[in-house]
Amino acid sequence: CGIVGVFGTPYSFQEVYQGLLLLQHRGQDAAGILSFDFLDKNFHSHKDLGLVSDVFRPEILAGFSGQMSIAHTRYATVGPREKENSPLNSIDLKRDIQPMTINYPHGIGMVHNGNIVNYYELKTYLLEEKRRHLFTNNDLEALLNILSDGLREKVEGKHHFDIFQDAVKSLFDKAKGGFSVLGLLADKGLFAFRDPHGLRPLILGERKLTEEEMAVHPTHFGKSYCLSSESNSLNFLGYDVVRDLAPGEILFIDQTGEIFSSMDYSKKKNIAPKSCMFEWVYFANPESVLEERSVYSARLDFGKNLAGEIQALIESGEIKPDLVVPIPETSRVAAISLSETLKIPYREVLIKNRYIQRSFILNTQASRNRAVQLKLTAIASEIKGKNILLLDDSIVRGTTSKRIIEMVKEAGANEIYFATTCPPIRYPCYYGVDFPDPKELVAADRTVEEVQEYLGATRLIYLSETATKKSIGKESLCMACINGCYPVDIGSAKTFQDMR
Ligand code: 5GP
Ligand code: SF4
Repeated sequence: CGIVGVFGTPYSFQEVYQGLLLLQHRGQDAAGILSFDFLDKNFHSHKDLGLVSDVFRPEILAGFSGQMSIAHTRYATVGPREKENSPLNSIDLKRDIQPMTINYPHGIGMVHNGNIVNYYELKTYLLEEKRRHLFTNNDLEALLNILSDGLREKVEGKHHFDIFQDAVKSLFDKAKGGFSVLGLLADKGLFAFRDPHGLRPLILGERKLTEEEMAVHPTHFGKSYCLSSESNSLNFLGYDVVRDLAPGEILFIDQTGEIFSSMDYSKKKNIAPKSCMFEWVYFANPESVLEERSVYSARLDFGKNLAGEIQALIESGEIKPDLVVPIPETSRVAAISLSETLKIPYREVLIKNRYIQRSFILNTQASRNRAVQLKLTAIASEIKGKNILLLDDSIVRGTTSKRIIEMVKEAGANEIYFATTCPPIRYPCYYGVDFPDPKELVAADRTVEEVQEYLGATRLIYLSETATKKSIGKESLCMACINGCYPVDIGSAKTFQDMR
């Protein structure tokens, strides 16, 4: 999912809308915006299934007002799905769209990116101990209830940020998983927090208000702040990047524009940072910078480091590639550096029909198969008789790779080598990326040779785990889907998968 929030400008809802457009690649199921207007003291909101630009037609946006807003674009990892041969249950799907709100002890609205591993446990706790019924299948609702519970305690003389940070810390104690959260507290301000490992990204930016903005509104603070899943939306909206939120950081921007932050939770508990490596591999946009590491440069390094492994195979005569061919879009950057390093020509001979959605965003195997067929066309005249080195960012289910290999074969390729800038994905992700079922992961119970055979490639080359880490340039990453070392205990996850 993608989340973005803006505090301080009279156009906050327009900015989160634009920010959301730049996060569309992070989810295409649904979109929503919630704003709060300090003048009429009301929330304004709209959400629906569909792409950001479809959900927010100009006439809808025109109905918003407010100096602080949060927004969400959804990529459903759990919850009701389109089932094979059965119609979409749009009532259930709609019910789960974010932002979500609660009315006690304050008006609170929230969005999140990620997944709560012990959701089922929390749901039971809320029902049995707090007599709170959850209306949706979205774990955000559980977070919202737990936070609001923590905010009920009013301690005289205690600063409002201290009350708030205590409530979030107690939420950290209870809710396990990977999550980045943005929220609005009616009449009080905008808040943000990141899970104690920092599994999901969240970045803060600021800009000065323009004179026109200052004139438009009496409630300006001279500055506006933006928080987003990725830096690309900050750049686009004219915000300077301040910093990534620290793992376990709790941040509050109050109604006077003052910022409060607390970063001690993870340090005190000795919790190591674990950014998700998959953001650099696939999820984030290439123009974004996460944790001060450019996604584009990391991808260039994936290509360079992969070249080292491929060079050895060329020298030993095992493979003889004539062309390096990227599978659009994500692998392009790595394919360029791979081709440069190997000194083998780079050719974009798989042409993408750009009006078809990314295949993984479609939720069933049948709809994915359809999408792969429609998505790419091979230029046979450039492929015929050549040894093609195909490069993709990752192999998840293997559907895409298998079909592309068939397509390149049909276009007359001689030999087809398949390389990927991600090590074999063997374990499910419980922290918000959609590869939940090991049965669906092509590498889960196959050796590299078996995957190679399944895909129909002459040779399959994975970037190694060490080279992946080296390319991203960070020591402490989550790589659980690769090596099964889960930073957050997934003990109760099985039950929760079954329940939902
Ligand atoms: P698959 O191997 O699942 O058929 O497709 C892999 C392709 O889907 C790669 O080109 C990769 O770009 C893309 N992909 C990246 N992330 C994901 C994800 O989270 N889930 C799935 N299924 N595919 C993804
Ligand atoms: Fe990212 Fe994989 Fe960890 Fe999930 S398991 S957070 S996809 S690195």
